[in-house]
Amino acid sequence: MAASRPPRAAPAPEPAAPAPRDDLVAGPGVREKLAKLGIHSRFDLVLHLPLRYEDETRLTPLAEAGTGEPVLVEAEVVECEVKYRPRRTLVVKCTDGLGELWLRFLNFYPSQVKQMAPGRRLRLFGEVRPGFFGAEMVHPKVRVVEEGAPLPTALTPVYPTTAGMSQANLRGFIEHALDTLLMDDTLEPALLERLALQGFRESVLLLHRPPPDVDAASLADRTHPAWRRLKFDELLAQQLAMRIAYRERRAKSAPRMPDKHTLTNLLVKSLPFALTRAQKKAWATIAHDLAQPHPMRRLLQGDVGSGKTLVAALAALQAIENGWQVALMAPTEILAEQHYLKLAHWLEPLGVKVSWLAGSLKARAKKTALEAIARGETQLAIGTHALFQDEVAFERLGLAIVDEQHRFGVAQRLALTGKGSEPHQLMMSATPIPRTLSMSYYADLDVSVIDELPPGRTPVVTKLVDESRRDEVILRIRESCAEGAQAYWVCPLIEESETLQLKTALETFETMKATFPDLAVGLVHGRLKPDEKAQVMADFKAKRVQLLVATTVIEVGVDVPNATLMVIEHAERMGLAQLHQLRGRVGRGTGRSLAILLYHQPLSEMARARLKVIYGTTDGFEIARQDLLQRGPGEYLGSRQSGAPLLRFADLERDADLIELAREVADAMISERSHAVERHLDRWLGRRQFYLKA
Ligand code: ADP
Ligand code: MG
Repeated sequence: MAASRPPRAAPAPEPAAPAPRDDLVAGPGVREKLAKLGIHSRFDLVLHLPLRYEDETRLTPLAEAGTGEPVLVEAEVVECEVKYRPRRTLVVKCTDGLGELWLRFLNFYPSQVKQMAPGRRLRLFGEVRPGFFGAEMVHPKVRVVEEGAPLPTALTPVYPTTAGMSQANLRGFIEHALDTLLMDDTLEPALLERLALQGFRESVLLLHRPPPDVDAASLADRTHPAWRRLKFDELLAQQLAMRIAYRERRAKSAPRMPDKHTLTNLLVKSLPFALTRAQKKAWATIAHDLAQPHPMRRLLQGDVGSGKTLVAALAALQAIENGWQVALMAPTEILAEQHYLKLAHWLEPLGVKVSWLAGSLKARAKKTALEAIARGETQLAIGTHALFQDEVAFERLGLAIVDEQHRFGVAQRLALTGKGSEPHQLMMSATPIPRTLSMSYYADLDVSVIDELPPGRTPVVTKLVDESRRDEVILRIRESCAEGAQAYWVCPLIEESETLQLKTALETFETMKATFPDLAVGLVHGRLKPDEKAQVMADFKAKRVQLLVATTVIEVGVDVPNATLMVIEHAERMGLAQLHQLRGRVGRGTGRSLAILLYHQPLSEMARARLKVIYGTTDGFEIARQDLLQRGPGEYLGSRQSGAPLLRFADLERDADLIELAREVADAMISERSHAVERHLDRWLGRRQFYLKA
């Protein structure tokens, strides 16, 4: 391999995964089972680490064995009999000369009956419990031995396995891999020393075959130096793959769109307010990105209400000034529609042609929209998933904006990007990504943060109210609406059944109408036709509706500054991100806002913890951090990572220091074009590299 060759990147995202390094010595049936465990090569076997260990390195006399802990005992069979009552059971009586032990097996093979013939010496591993006849072991692990047979010198690993693959078999495969693979280090000794990490081979061997005197607690909680080394390697592989993807993108070309300050300036001048410092900063960064000849892939993060839409509008205008088309995609029709209304209101006076495209458009309207997009007449197309259907063809798409990006899958975002040759991409998210996540799973993106809210906002006050005090809440709504404010009443989330959820919404609507005969009450839910939804939202915006009963469809993006009161029913059923988003629907104007979270007793521990967090802070970043803590990254990341490997060993919270180290080392290795890059990736990611590309 030539020294000047840049490190190999993850393979291109082909429809099928590339062939793994397939060096398993096993037949097809076994391969299939190993594949279920994510094992495709001997190296994967080496990285298949034990869940826990059993100590079979010392014998416990029967007289001392009844401690409730699993132990290894040695005893000689006295009797071996199959009993049929109350059910077919193999019962074996044995002794070690001093004590007696009964073994019971409910499922057994004839060979086991032979194996435990009287006179045989057995080593038995299991828990000794008081039984009907005396001390007993149920289904112990059995090995027939000669007297004085040597004991193992290492703890026995117990591996995660799958149906049809016994521990003993799996252990055999892993032992073979450990004995035959060259597990040399991918990292230089000097680097290991600097990072205070131990060797790879040494670490792997320790984890598979720990000596009996190992610090068991540090193995169990994965803080042992051997674990640290493996976690570091895993994180390093992730960082390398992400950073390579990042560099590859920087090497691609995309249209340059320098800021011409024509349309963008006009918009800024037409606004009734000034941009916040944070908006200006984010906008300057994006303006710079768009002027570069390679594709932007930027994530714009900002808490709910921080004003991301305006920054998106400026980005769109910069592309439009340069003669390019822009697509803005939102995850729900309500949100897309809000964007459409707002952006049309801002941009049409500047002469920009904005089009609306959603699945629900009537055939004629849709055809017109599609034609305008295809002819390049439409300068900004706004819509839902409908935007990346096959029938949508842009004349020259230069920028794709994705709002609430975490709600889209990778495939959907790629489909939109695929509509231009290499469009710039701006993703927006109000679900803040904790630093450890943005350093790991999002390391292939550039990130900008809007870290302040527009001035004059008073933070939303949150109250937790037991459902039994509903009357006080009703009173509160009456008062607020009498003062000219508006309110939301959010119906409970019913995860099991959409029909039931709809029914609840309809019932709540009826109840509210009866409770407030003098107020205009509206209802919005996911099953309304889009034009009906739009009508209700328009009525609410125009204050023709004072109290809006809603399902969680209003969760994202809905922007009605005059609404200052929000009641959320069964708040204990909702997730943190969802509560934060819902609460973000109020506190958008200058009025004081209140969110009332109604809860029903009894509260689960998780629900209590969630409510405590949402009560205690309105800071989206803190909420996201707590959310990550409570749920773990798998769920937190949702669709972005579907199909992609989550970290197996490292923990984003606890191993944050290792992430930083891995990032630094990855950057250095890539800059130096170290050969170790390829070897390390190959070892750690193998066939999984494919996923990381997206
Ligand atoms: P989000 O970041 O949640 O998408 P929006 O873009 O919907 O927030 O903005 C929330 C509200 O704040 C909107 O009504 C928007 O017009 C308004 N807004 C945006 N920027 C400013 C600003 N600099 N000053 C005052 N109001 C602003
Ligand atoms: Mg928004």
